[in-house]
This record gives sequence, C-alpha cells and structure tokens, in this order.
Amino acid sequence: MTLPPTCYAYDPIEQTHNMPGHVENNRRTGKTMALLEKRGLLDAMHPLPVEPIDLPALHRIHTPDYVQHIRRLAAAGGGMLDFETYATATSYDVALMAAGAAIAVTRAVVSGRARNGISIMRPPGHHALPAQAMGFCIFANAALAAKAAQAEMGLERILIIDWDVHHGNGTEAIFYEDPTVAFISYHQYPLWPGTGALEDIGRGLGTGYTMNIPMPMGAGDTAYLRAFDLLVVPFARRFQPQLILVSSGYDAHWQDPLAQMALTLNGYAQLARRARLLAEELCQGRLVVLLEGGYHLTAVSYGVLNTVRALMGQEDAVEDPLGPAPGRETEVENMIAHLQRIHRL
Ligand SMILES: [Zn+2]
Repeated sequence: MTLPPTCYAYDPIEQTHNMPGHVENNRRTGKTMALLEKRGLLDAMHPLPVEPIDLPALHRIHTPDYVQHIRRLAAAGGGMLDFETYATATSYDVALMAAGAAIAVTRAVVSGRARNGISIMRPPGHHALPAQAMGFCIFANAALAAKAAQAEMGLERILIIDWDVHHGNGTEAIFYEDPTVAFISYHQYPLWPGTGALEDIGRGLGTGYTMNIPMPMGAGDTAYLRAFDLLVVPFARRFQPQLILVSSGYDAHWQDPLAQMALTLNGYAQLARRARLLAEELCQGRLVVLLEGGYHLTAVSYGVLNTVRALMGQEDAVEDPLGPAPGRETEVENMIAHLQRIHRL
C-alpha cells in the first residue's frame, strides 16, 4: 500500500504582503519556495488550492470589529497595526489566504487525502490575539485551523506544538481555558513578548493543557531534543491528540538576528522527524506544519526544506549549510526536571 502524499499550500499572493527592510518580508518565502523547487520537492508534494478563510470561520476567534479594522486599513492602502506589524493594501486578502491555507492543509490531512502537510504562507499567526495584531501576525492561523478541525472536521482533541523562538502568546491566550486544544511552546525566555513562564499551565478547565518550555539563551539541539523526548512526548501521549499542528518558526536557529538560541538546521530536522513519528504513533500521522517566524534567509529556507523532507520520511537527506553553533550549549536539565514535576510527566 502506498502512503498518501505530503501536501503543501502556497499562493503567490503572499508576496504582495511586504515591507522592504522589514525582517518579516517576502524574501523569506521567496527563497524558500525557490529552494523547494530546485530540489524537486514541489513536484514531489501534492499542491493544494488555497482559498481565503470565510468570515464565520474567522469569527470563531477574531472579533468582527478587528476584522473590519484590518479590512479598512488595507482598503485605505495599508499602514502600521502596531509599532512593528505592517499591513499593505493587500494584507487583508493575504492574511485571509494564510488562514485559509492552514485550514486547507488541515482538511487534506484529516480527510486522509494527504499523509501530512505544510503551509508556506505569510503573514505568520501565533502572536495574533482575537482583537489585536501583534508581532508581525494578523490572523491566528494555527488556532483558526484547530477551531476549523473541531467545528468542520469532527475532531475533538488537537495538540499545537510551537517551536518558534518567541512565545506563542496568541495561541496560548485563545486556548488557555480550553482542555480540547493543548498547547506546547518552546521559546527563548526571557525574550519578547515576555509571556510563557513555566508556571503558566492553563486556567480553569484548561489547567494542565498548556505547557511552556522557556529556554535560556544559548540552548541548542541537545536541549530541544531532550525536551521533546522528556516533555513533549509524554505530554502528548497523555493527551492523545487526533491531530498535531506545528507552529514552525526557524528563528531559534543560531544565526537568527532576532534571538540568541543555538539550534542548528540539523536540530530543526530532528525536531520535525520527532513530530512526524509522534503523529504516526498517536494520530495516524496527521501532522500539519505552519510557517511562523525565522529571519535568517538561509536558516528559514533550509529549515523548511528539511522539514518537508522529514514529513516525507526522507530525514537522511538533511542539508545544513550553516553548520553547528559556536560555543557550548546552555544546560537545561534542571528546567526539564522542574517541568516534569509541574506537569507530572
Ligand atoms: Zn518568532
């Protein structure tokens, strides 16, 4: 029996959401797509048509006033949503497409038409709040995909793993009291946005369904993979998700200009491989990867390349043109032990 293909969602409209000189610019995906094409991976994956998310699906999380605010700002030619988050004349449409792409991949994977998949769209989503853009994010792509999987695809339990170097504060806030969508965030701590302390584990019925893994500056491959094996895997086994979504930012790479972590491209590839194996163990391989941050162009493009290969089961072919991080990795065993106690793992 042949496995269904790995699928991807991409639409070139994302190139029009751009601000030259801004770190979150269209060269991130431009270079990534060119590399995937060059390596023959676009041909090896199943392409999905992308449609904008519909308003009822968007309103599951975002307030109508906020959605109107984005639409009007774009219609007026664009502008700044906060001190660092921009909108162009097309950003409303692009953000609708980025959320729609996340849902398209989710639908293909949940239906079994695809084995797993990736959305390579922008703007990213994990900082977006119900009524506020934040951290280059406009709509909460991963959270919207999780909500759609529950409301439209019959799933009950979804796990979101966020290994972007920044805390996924938007995703956390949306599901903080919700025991049906579990959230795990790896992030440099302290670092912007400042949330994501290890004691923050959810509230009310959601208590215990959020796990923050605050990494000290300089933590690298060993720390990330140890945390996966000792924290993420047992947490996920207890939760028994029916789908795993990954908010995949590549800004924990040691070359990234916005953070000070020591993860390598090989480390990212091993994380992606572990996520695939976890999905295969727990939820028939249902794994959906969404692009979040990552601001070193080589790190983000090769990061996505290796992630795609991991999704396809080709992790032997890891490419790491940037090599290992200089210096010694920061030790995290005490932090991991503390989290094991807090979460009873
Ligand atoms: Zn980030």
